[in-house]
Amino acid sequence: MAKPVVAVVGRPNVGKSTIFNRIIGDRLSIVEDKPGITRDRIYGQAEWRDIPFHIIDTGGIEISDEYILKSIRAQAELAIEEADVIVFMVDGKAGITPSDSEVAELLFKSRKPVVLAVNKVDNIKRMDDIYEFYSLGFGDPIAISGAHGLGIGDLLDAVVEHFPEITDDEYDEDVIRVAIIGRPNVGKSSMVNALLGEDRVIVSDQAGTTRDAVDTPFERDGQRYVIIDTAGMRKRGKVYENVEKYSVLRAMKAIERADVVLVVINGEEGIIEQDKHIAGFAHEAGKAAIFVVNKWDVVEKDDKTLHQFSQKIRDHFLFMTYAPILFVSAKTGQRLHKLLPLVNEVAEQHSLRIPTHVLNDVVADAVAINPPPRDKGRRLKINYATQIGVKPPTFVFFVNSPELMHFSYERYLENKIRAAFQFSGTPIRLWMRRKS
Ligand code: GDP
Ligand code: GDP
Repeated sequence: MAKPVVAVVGRPNVGKSTIFNRIIGDRLSIVEDKPGITRDRIYGQAEWRDIPFHIIDTGGIEISDEYILKSIRAQAELAIEEADVIVFMVDGKAGITPSDSEVAELLFKSRKPVVLAVNKVDNIKRMDDIYEFYSLGFGDPIAISGAHGLGIGDLLDAVVEHFPEITDDEYDEDVIRVAIIGRPNVGKSSMVNALLGEDRVIVSDQAGTTRDAVDTPFERDGQRYVIIDTAGMRKRGKVYENVEKYSVLRAMKAIERADVVLVVINGEEGIIEQDKHIAGFAHEAGKAAIFVVNKWDVVEKDDKTLHQFSQKIRDHFLFMTYAPILFVSAKTGQRLHKLLPLVNEVAEQHSLRIPTHVLNDVVADAVAINPPPRDKGRRLKINYATQIGVKPPTFVFFVNSPELMHFSYERYLENKIRAAFQFSGTPIRLWMRRKS
């Protein structure tokens, strides 16, 4: 399920980045932006009232244009395009300026939900400052102070109220949702075209109501698939398409909606930081994954090259040893016929269910061979285990004291489970619950 996206818009210096940082708090975003651009970070993830969402600080998006007004406009357009809810921020001390009015007009025309935040209302005496902002036409302005952390809860309450209804019934259960992810130019579009080829059965543009993703459904050998959110590949040329960070956000949204993530790596250039972020995100989101090394046709090879490249992938993605690696050429079609069968396989493993008694046999064997270590004179005791979910496969272990479980022992159990049932291509999750 894709998380809603909130964008913060407003002219420079109203306090967007201050508020953004307050909202994401200390939560570590897995995507660390390069320092020294305009901001440390332009998007992050946050949660309010148990609802997780993405947030973009549009002020941090660099748009190569020296005119401030033009770039504010481009940032607002980006927000309109991408966000489910827009926080329009103004400065309570400064009052309404012409650029505020300009942004207001754009936002107003977009018909997207807008929450108006008046920042720098640092104390109650300044509450009168907010009244003039009613004239912007976005209803009740919400007084906040980024400097003092006031009103942020009210602001988020108003934002969350506008989130779209969560629906996860876009596609039938038996449709495999595939996200093809990688930085610009790795060959994603070529791969899609090669996959669809002449067999392109159904291709329809489904414009969503809350997002403008374009999904591509197709069928092969009786299996239905949908390629998620290829809009990013098609809308090239727009002003912000080259903003690398921005395309990572788009990738994250596609990953959230997918079952299987194809992490496309450029065989010619090797692994880059962004590949790691994307793969890490797929892992954390519990998606099945395949490393697809493309442009293998132009790589100079000897009999060791493939093995060396595989090893490099394993070294860079230590946490994803489960993901298979496929070397292809979208251009020549080399090994491309192996891709969909591999997708089928990992999708199947992603939703595999293990009967409880079989699982417990494996766990009992594992414990007999290598008993849990003692900690301060106490030993972890596993009473039983059961699988509580799929996509990804999730197991609950009922134990005497969850705090006695060590990371290394959990790793050991995961390895034993994998040795018995494989789960290739999918992360699995182990949860500990107290039960004496
Ligand atoms: P942005 O350009 O819109 O992202 O604005 P910044 O977050 O960089 O803030 C611009 C300036 O306003 C900084 O000097 C902040 O310290 C200041 N500022 C931010 N929030 C508040 C606030 O609530 N009250 C006051 N008095 N100053 C603030
Ligand atoms: P995208 O930005 O990831 O969608 O990449 P494209 O599919 O547009 O491909 C970018 C460029 O790489 C184009 O010029 C393609 O022709 C080229 N390309 C894509 N796949 C391959 C491949 O397997 N081998 C070679 N040599 N070139 C490729």
